[in-house]
Amino acid sequence: MSFADKSFSFEFFPTKTEAGHEKLMAVARQLAAYQPEFFSCTYGAGGSTRDRTFDTVMQLEREVQVPAAPHLSCVGDSKAELRQLLAQYRDAGIKRIVALRGDLPSGMGMAASELRHANDLVEFIRAETGDHFHIEVAAYPEMHPQARNLEDDLAHFARKAKAGADSAITQYFFNADSYFYFVERIRKLGVEIPIVPGIMPITNYSKLARFSEACGAEIPRWIRKQLEAYNDDSASIQAFGEEVISRMCEQLLVGGAPGLHFYTLNQAQASLAIWKNLGGAA
Ligand code: FAD
Repeated sequence: MSFADKSFSFEFFPTKTEAGHEKLMAVARQLAAYQPEFFSCTYGAGGSTRDRTFDTVMQLEREVQVPAAPHLSCVGDSKAELRQLLAQYRDAGIKRIVALRGDLPSGMGMAASELRHANDLVEFIRAETGDHFHIEVAAYPEMHPQARNLEDDLAHFARKAKAGADSAITQYFFNADSYFYFVERIRKLGVEIPIVPGIMPITNYSKLARFSEACGAEIPRWIRKQLEAYNDDSASIQAFGEEVISRMCEQLLVGGAPGLHFYTLNQAQASLAIWKNLGGAA
């Protein structure tokens, strides 16, 4: 089966050290050979990575022949700060932005926040920069952890599309049905933007469990039990993870997902293994 018409993208986070940054760039060069549609780089809510995200995006754009998209979140940043950053990106020729609300680190107040939800940020970006940017937003097939119910969450997602988002990337999940159900329900609300599944390769169980707890992604019992049983046998965890995630990706693409967005955690191997299992070639 060929998925040549599907779009693939990879996400990185900006690193704190020079060595980490060099590694990120090496990973990006390796992944660039597979001609993804874009790379994205996360942003620390409240601006904690403002400069590092900017510098990483600019270096990716300059040195690796793949368009780079910065993430931008609105909580903890003022309109003036967001306006300045948007102008810098626009002037530097960046064409795509991932627009988010963000999660402030505990203890950091909302004082600087003038925009409280991602739909406010999308509206702001459109008001400031017109149609310059392709705007990606976040979607939650298993519901955002703070959502009261699915109906509210769907309605809030629909607001982002109405405010001018062009497409969406989902939080990761391990249950393809949640994605298909989310897409079906959102289409019934008349929202037609592409919704690309976010894919988290499985490489380390304890980290994955911690992270999934925080972001509200459910690890199904049969996956969790098996990963627990492997204990610290990382080769078996990776082999099992690769098989399970590759199967889910195939199911998603066959079922109509427009592409896949990989949360690489700045590692090439796990995402590439899945991509190759899906028939992707350099
Ligand atoms: P929103 O769409 O604003 O939704 C947040 C919550 O508020 C939801 O419960 C929603 O139902 C509700 N809501 C939305 N709009 C309204 C409204 N108008 N009125 C009332 N309630 C509303 N975080 C970072 O800090 N940096 C990153 O780089 C980053 N990248 C991400 C990339 C992807 C693809 C994804 C899926 C998430 C990312 N996150 C990132 C995490 C994200 O910031 C958090 O999940 C955050 O809690 C919500 O962001 P959002 O943009 O989905 O918010």
